[in-house]
Amino acid sequence: MKTHFTRDLALLGVMSALGSTLFAQEALKVSGARPDATAAIWTASSDAPKCESPFTNSLPSYILLTNGNSTFFTISRQFPRSPQAISVAAMNKKQTPWAVVVACADSRVAPEILFNETLGNLFVVRNAGNVVDPVTIGSIEYALLHFHIQTVLILGHDTCGAVQASAEVWHDNKSPADLCGSIGSIVNRILPGMTNDPALIRLKDEPTNVDLLRLAGYRNAYQQAVALARGSSIVRKGAQIYYATTSMSTASGTNYTGQINIVPAVNPPVYSPLGKPGAAQGGE
Ligand SMILES: [Zn+2]
Repeated sequence: MKTHFTRDLALLGVMSALGSTLFAQEALKVSGARPDATAAIWTASSDAPKCESPFTNSLPSYILLTNGNSTFFTISRQFPRSPQAISVAAMNKKQTPWAVVVACADSRVAPEILFNETLGNLFVVRNAGNVVDPVTIGSIEYALLHFHIQTVLILGHDTCGAVQASAEVWHDNKSPADLCGSIGSIVNRILPGMTNDPALIRLKDEPTNVDLLRLAGYRNAYQQAVALARGSSIVRKGAQIYYATTSMSTASGTNYTGQINIVPAVNPPVYSPLGKPGAAQGGE
């Protein structure tokens, strides 16, 4: 077991060395971002392991996710995949997932459906707020080491209850520990990213502002991606991290499409004047 683990770690190191330069170029091509724009964000704090290059050559998995979501919002939304499409023979074999998706537990954010995938293809970790905690990190590391997955996507969404709960704690000048049960453990991992983003400062006074909450959900997905990179040397060496949100129908008139704009996690959120996440990515 130990030998297998060591071999996997060595393999991840080789993969990283081979793919880092190529994928860095490809990822920046996708986003249009400047490589120096995020250096400070990706530098770990002094009490955390220094971030190494997060790049590997995981472009094929990124394309598969993007294409699957395109099929969902153009076709499958109207004509859902039939249960008969699931291959019983394939299910009897060992699983071979090719991407990890960390998604909110919200019932509208099921990754297998949003990416038009069947059973056995996505390794999904879900919790309220798509937060990255030690259990989440351990689950992701397991997937990388055992299935040699190179793509990890953090998937948040608009109108996220966990994000709104965090905004309300901020507004009420409360501590996450004041919340009932263990809900504060979720807010604890969302609130810091929210309060550190100048674009979200108005949320403190307007914790129910739908447009601001949309931006906060996008910011949270990014913040969790950063937490993942900082929290796992295995992920930093072996995986490319992305983040995204999916939109919901809201009181401000957002129409649900199911379309997901996947962004490499080295690129921080860019908000348009209209409050749409990612609309101006790569711009000034
Ligand atoms: Zn949510």
